Amino acid sequence: MGASIPLPTRPTDTPATPAPNVIGATCSVASFHTHTPTTYRTGFPRGVGPSGPDNNADTSDQVPGVVYGYTENPVGSGTIPMVHPETDPAQRYHSTGLTRRPTP
Ligand SMILES: [Zn+2]
Repeated sequence: MGASIPLPTRPTDTPATPAPNVIGATCSVASFHTHTPTTYRTGFPRGVGPSGPDNNADTSDQVPGVVYGYTENPVGSGTIPMVHPETDPAQRYHSTGLTRRPTP
């Protein structure tokens, strides 16, 4: 069995069009989430890095995305196996698309 959580859409900016020197404005500039270990799962190996839906959500929201997940094992596979130890190496991955959110 797989498991996933769809990334929510980017929160709206407050105010929607902030002045350059506004105080207290909120503006989401990136997404971040982690991918869980497969320590207690069975089945097929799981891909590492951002998933297709992760990339789609970040592209749609026009933000860079950062995913913290396990490093592929074995090297070159692009996957981690099921029953993968929780303590194995992990790293940051970046979603495809933007490296910086456009200025609102
Ligand atoms: Zn993800």
